[in-house]
Amino acid sequence: ANIALNRAKKSLSADFDYFSGDMEEHTRWRLDLIRQLKHDFHAEKLVVWYQPQVAIYSGDVVGVEALLRWPDGDGFVQPPSVFVPLAEYSGLIVEIGEWVLSQACHAYRELAQLQESRIRIAVNISMPQFRAGNLTERVAALLGSQRVPPSALELEITESVAMDEPKTVIAALEGLRALGVSIAIDDFGTGYSSLAQLRALPIDRLKIDRAFIDEIRDGRGGLFAETIISLGQKLGLRLTAEGVETPEQAGFLRALGCSEAQGYFYARPMPLSELKVWLAARQRV
Ligand code: C2E
Ligand code: MG
Ligand code: MG
Ligand code: MG
Repeated sequence: ANIALNRAKKSLSADFDYFSGDMEEHTRWRLDLIRQLKHDFHAEKLVVWYQPQVAIYSGDVVGVEALLRWPDGDGFVQPPSVFVPLAEYSGLIVEIGEWVLSQACHAYRELAQLQESRIRIAVNISMPQFRAGNLTERVAALLGSQRVPPSALELEITESVAMDEPKTVIAALEGLRALGVSIAIDDFGTGYSSLAQLRALPIDRLKIDRAFIDEIRDGRGGLFAETIISLGQKLGLRLTAEGVETPEQAGFLRALGCSEAQGYFYARPMPLSELKVWLAARQRV
């Protein structure tokens, strides 16, 4: 029994050494990436792409979501799923997020010239941006100086942001909504918010997470997508389905009364210049 115990101890400590070495390596990799991101952001190498949001029934483009990209030659250094959490962890997201907002305002003005019907711009906001304080004032100042109507802006936050520091976040959301900015809960259904917490949130829209749309396939509906749609309708919230990739999914969502969708079935995220061409071609049809 002793031998077995010693062997177990040995293998545990060996695993542990290996693990901690790996952790160090991983930490160094993360710190290097943060340093590189900070450098490239200040060197103006980051870009913002835009993905159309479509009214399912009419096919009209009703909005675009601003999505960060970190280009590297023909490809990308890292996807946002990797570098956005690092930017949040390091606090860099406060500066980057403010820049994304100003880029989105610029895009709005360009698109407003092109389209007769007004397009909304959606921008993702992270927790450190709320913690930095004065988010409402900063957004108000930006919209004012860039001459963008507050009703054209929608801010997307995840459930975890909404639950993290409810007092701070709810106060800011109320200020933003008083301005006329609308608020969407992103990736809805994947977080841990309770219905009681959801009811207390001053929000306008639920974005149904892609995972639930993905379940709509091969003639089968998505039970969770259906449930979220009916929840949203009962709470008087607007709904957007994320990650719609097939006509089958669009048809299912439309039949259930989900009014808006975003996904590769309609269009992928693209640079502003491409989006303008895409919109112009679509209007000609
Ligand atoms: P998100 O806000 O939920 O954005 C939607 C993500 O789904 C985007 O990934 C988009 O490219 C992807 N997507 C859209 N349609 C489809 C589809 O039909 N199929 C599939 N498989 N994917 C689809 P992306 O651009 O990689 O961004 C990932 C996440 O990074 C975003 O998720 C958001 O949480 C974060 N992010 C991106 N830009 C910003 C930003 O400026 N600020 C902050 N705070 N976060 C950002
Ligand atoms: Mg989003
Ligand atoms: Mg999402
Ligand atoms: Mg997400």
